[in-house]
Amino acid sequence: MSILVAGGAGYIGSHMVKQLVESGEEVVVADNLSTGHKKAINPKAKFYYGDIRDRAFLDRIFVNEDITAVVHFAAFSIVPESMQEPLKYFDNNTGGMITLLEAMRDFKVKYIVFSSTAATYGIPETMPIKETDPQQPINPYGLSKLMMEKMMAWADEAYGIKFVALRYFNVAGAAADGTIGEDHGPETHLVPIIMQVAQGKRAELSIFGDDYNTPDGTNVRDYVHVMDLADAHILALKYLEAGNPSNAFNLGSSTGFSNKEMLEAAREVTGKEIPAKIAPRRPGDPDSLVAASDKAREVLNWQPKYDDVHDIIATAWQWHSTHPKGYDDRN
Ligand code: UDP
Repeated sequence: MSILVAGGAGYIGSHMVKQLVESGEEVVVADNLSTGHKKAINPKAKFYYGDIRDRAFLDRIFVNEDITAVVHFAAFSIVPESMQEPLKYFDNNTGGMITLLEAMRDFKVKYIVFSSTAATYGIPETMPIKETDPQQPINPYGLSKLMMEKMMAWADEAYGIKFVALRYFNVAGAAADGTIGEDHGPETHLVPIIMQVAQGKRAELSIFGDDYNTPDGTNVRDYVHVMDLADAHILALKYLEAGNPSNAFNLGSSTGFSNKEMLEAAREVTGKEIPAKIAPRRPGDPDSLVAASDKAREVLNWQPKYDDVHDIIATAWQWHSTHPKGYDDRN
């Protein structure tokens, strides 16, 4: 019996694979390496190179392996890119989910844990955001993921495939043992960009806008450690295997940090100056996104270990400072 991790070579997927392998599970990874890294895949996992939109590829996996559940990370996730290339997002994200659910239906795989996102909420009416709040995405990325959630709900109705949608807020950090971490090309996310400035690989951080409706004018986000996120997926798998109904959970820390506060925290952790300037707003950014995550704590018994952004940033700094070229530095 194995768990299929679609997108297991990516940033979050690779941390999930590591956590699953270390908890004694048999893991099969499917990844087209479009943004992931082969070196990020835990060597104890079995790797299939291919695209989840390719039905023949999925059939090969489901025929060869005894898959009992799928954890689905294989999607594009960059908000600004989705504003410029929306169809790329509907094709890969939404389209990929169709093929995956069809294959799961045909091979009678009953459980899926899915990477959803705070971006499905759009501009929240109240803060912190609850799972029952309206989902009105303001960018194609968020809409592609909302469509995937809705498709899973109808696939549950029709075929009995049970799902947990985990709506991530801002994921950061790296495995505490320093073996894997975040490596995107090009990098767009705040924490790794700050790390690159601290390393001297970039001259300065551009903070996108300081005239938002927030205490210091910069966007407020809710940061969660990637290993805490992996733990939540394992609990979600157990929740489904115990026969519970499909469900959705926010994964965040319930505490917001502004972009300026994140910069200050990174200066403290790294001891580096980290030059920064204020730049124009980036399209598609809501003022604040902070999760109410008590539902995951209560229903899944999720207990995040990293509750201080300094600790999250410290693990990111450990990875970045020891791997200045990302996975190119790893054997
Ligand atoms: N951000 C920034 N400069 C950068 C990258 C990001 O000011 O070089 C801001 C971005 O506008 C947002 C926050 O950092 O307010 C988090 O952005 P990120 O892309 O990391 O995650 P997202 O919230 O889009 O998932």
